[in-house]
Amino acid sequence: MILGAIEAGGTKFVCGIGNENGEVIERISIPTTTPEETMRHVVDYFKEKKVDALGVGSFGPVDLNVSSPTYGYITSTPKEHWNQYNLVGELKKHFHVPIGFDTDVNAAALGESLWGAAKGLDSCLYMTVGTGIGVGAVSEGKLVHGMLHPEMGHILVRRHDEDHFTGSCPFHGDCLEGMASGPAIEARWGKKGVELASDIEVWELEAYYLAQALVNYILVLSPKRIVIGGGVMKQEHLFPLVRKGVVQLLNGYIQHENVLDQIDKYIVPPDLGDNAGLCGALALARQAYTIKKKS
Ligand code: ADP
Ligand code: ZN
Repeated sequence: MILGAIEAGGTKFVCGIGNENGEVIERISIPTTTPEETMRHVVDYFKEKKVDALGVGSFGPVDLNVSSPTYGYITSTPKEHWNQYNLVGELKKHFHVPIGFDTDVNAAALGESLWGAAKGLDSCLYMTVGTGIGVGAVSEGKLVHGMLHPEMGHILVRRHDEDHFTGSCPFHGDCLEGMASGPAIEARWGKKGVELASDIEVWELEAYYLAQALVNYILVLSPKRIVIGGGVMKQEHLFPLVRKGVVQLLNGYIQHENVLDQIDKYIVPPDLGDNAGLCGALALARQAYTIKKKS
């Protein structure tokens, strides 16, 4: 099976070819400029590839409701030119194969659950802490969508007593993303995260917020594993701080070995490395192919 994968991001579209085992055979990167220009390169790339299905993990917000007239659109994004853009519709004009479409984080969650850090589990969360904070969820073997799609990066968190930063989310100010994304770190401390690597205060505060978020996700969704990626998590010392915070906040309430004895195996980095986004899109392509075959 030849599967086409598109990781549609705000700065670049990574396109690639792979198979049903999550193996990426080749990949290219296309800058995100205007939809016309970017999509022309995307279409050109796949034209000769004879793919059996395509998968797209996209930046959002996106419309995932298949019965909606704007299904497959990138909807109310502040990203110039891409507001209300019919991404799946454009692909359908050129490729008559099943197309899987979902958020970038849902794609990554599915990829990690099929082939990565949550392999073999029917539930997991994938969280990215980068320019924004996004979370995708697999529950009982399926991606969680609900009414639109979850926006777990914008949950409310309890402010630290000594933190006077107003928060960087344009909608909510001090929601999780407003307090703990890469740009929030930079705005609060006046330096980029990478330049603050040795400043323990920065990472303790970061973990204070991330741990609260994970506790809320654990209480609501009870995921069997939590995978955290994104640029900010390159600060690997965050992992033990976040795990410790989660255990402290749960305070013995969740009586499961994952929390009580194996927290270092429960909250983990991604396993798919630089191909995580593409593998996620491959997973969506595989899913679309399988669903089509059954129908
Ligand atoms: P995006 O979210 O745009 O896909 P990333 O996941 O790389 O991209 O996130 C970018 C954010 O992560 C920026 O705010 C950047 O400052 C931060 N970041 C990137 N690398 C590091 C690092 N090594 N340490 C701390 N923060 C980092
Ligand atoms: Zn917010």
